[in-house]
Amino acid sequence: MEKLVLKNLSLPELKNWFAELGEPSYRVKQIRDWIYRKGVFDFAAMSNLPAALRERLSETASLRSLETVNSLASERDGSEKILFRLEDGETIESVRMGMESHSTLCLSSQVGCAMGCVFCETGRWGFRRNLKQAEILDQVLELRATLPEDQRYNLVFMGMGEPLQNYATIVSTLRVLTSEEGMGLSPRRITLSTVGLPDRIRKLATEGMKVGLAVSLICGDDDMRRALVPGHVKQTIKPILEAAEYYARVTGRRATLEYVLMAGITDRQKDAERLREITRDRPFKVNIIPYNPGETEVQMLLPGFKAPEELRRPTPAEVEKFVGKLIPAVPAVTVRWSQGTEVGGACGQLRGRDANG
Ligand code: SAH
Ligand code: SF4
Repeated sequence: MEKLVLKNLSLPELKNWFAELGEPSYRVKQIRDWIYRKGVFDFAAMSNLPAALRERLSETASLRSLETVNSLASERDGSEKILFRLEDGETIESVRMGMESHSTLCLSSQVGCAMGCVFCETGRWGFRRNLKQAEILDQVLELRATLPEDQRYNLVFMGMGEPLQNYATIVSTLRVLTSEEGMGLSPRRITLSTVGLPDRIRKLATEGMKVGLAVSLICGDDDMRRALVPGHVKQTIKPILEAAEYYARVTGRRATLEYVLMAGITDRQKDAERLREITRDRPFKVNIIPYNPGETEVQMLLPGFKAPEELRRPTPAEVEKFVGKLIPAVPAVTVRWSQGTEVGGACGQLRGRDANG
């Protein structure tokens, strides 16, 4: 008999399941505590449960959906990239960044991604399937287990995949993450990054969860964006921005626009002007992400260019120059010099395979 994966259940479903087993309701609380607060992966460790129940649970249910295949730690910045294998043999990557006072755990939402962004390893690799709730929650629990005790952490859905294409699962997962009966994390500590699906952004705004929203604007020009995001060619920028603005107003949290800086392609004078225009008087923050090259060099013909251009990471001086053109007109500009670049764990470098696989 196949075992029930407990972390795929919503909290009410978990409660029902225990009621059907004939267990009193305080047992559910004890178990939730072990699973989500203490993060144990083994029923045998649940010391306040009767031995017979522990045994019965081990026979019928499972608590681990990921197997750690490989982990690569960066000596330079303390970040760590972990490769997990899923039950069906697919693989995903998650990243832990920062270390001293607090960490950021970067989570995947799909195996691969269907948006095909030409600058992103995941996008070039293609789409395999959505992740299940347990596979997302286990990334949090596995990464959390590598932290020093009491270390504070934030969660960002910025790993492999497009979270809003896995909408129902992401929303139910967010409920477990933020509910007092689940992990009890403040939504302030969670940020979801999306390529920009306007209808889903609006829907998320009404779920009452108030997690932070980051939208991958990537660049401010529709034609250029179509070329860079071939899986999203019908989507223009304006409705994305309107949805992000709506989200910010409903949740009372400013939305972040992620802008991928590629030398000569998105960092020209006219690009800075567009970005100023886009953000004027709107509830946005801007996060500039200098392009992280992947393993393959990307060269392509882009709108407005006569010959194929190579995607290139701007130098620190070029980044500074671009940021200089935004300030003070653009609100709250930050630059994300990604961590983990040398272990392939930075934005856009995740592809869910071994270094040699
Ligand atoms: N699919 C979601 C979340 C994962 S990507 C999204 O696109 O938002 C997280 C962020 O990394 C996005 O802002 C994306 O634009 C950025 N990114 C992807 N590849 C990159 C690369 N090679 N260099 C820099 N940023 C990249
Ligand atoms: Fe998918 Fe985001 Fe990568 Fe684009 S940047 S391919 S949307 S993961």
